[in-house]
Amino acid sequence: MGKVTGFLEIDRQDRKYRPASDRIRNFKEFIVPLPEEVIRDQASRCMECGIPFCHDMKGLKGCPVNNQIPDWNDLVYRGEWEQASKDLHSTNNFPEFTGRICPAPCEASCTLNIVDSPVTIKSIECSIVDKAWDNGWIKPQINQNRTNKKNRNNWVWPSRACSCSTISQSRS
Ligand code: SF4
Repeated sequence: MGKVTGFLEIDRQDRKYRPASDRIRNFKEFIVPLPEEVIRDQASRCMECGIPFCHDMKGLKGCPVNNQIPDWNDLVYRGEWEQASKDLHSTNNFPEFTGRICPAPCEASCTLNIVDSPVTIKSIECSIVDKAWDNGWIKPQINQNRTNKKNRNNWVWPSRACSCSTISQSRS
């Protein structure tokens, strides 16, 4: 836990959307990212709960891909963005998608949602992966031993997308 009193001192702040009148004219990004220092402050609000409900233990209500949310919140607070990216990608192959369009059951499950002010987990996730792309920390992982066999995977997205990617990389 980076800042013990973070959740007491800092209010929740989240990304805004560009006005609809702009958005209907193109297909560009419509979510306005928060500055790095604001994301760091938001990450410091995480209490690193002894029982992190955001994480979805035993299939309850948190993150469906079991992202290790308190861990990367702490890393972002400390400025260790590359390590945060590795931690995030250890459970989630496509945080650039989930950081934008996931309904964020992690935030609904966050302990701070007791007072309607959960940690802005989805925005922090998106910032981690955007920074990783900007810095070239994400590289193609091409399997050199592909069998060309097909795999039909009917699991529910985002688990489906992640599992397809993982299976593809792990075939030998
Ligand atoms: S439930 Fe909220 S405050 Fe607790 S560890 Fe998860 S993100 Fe942090």
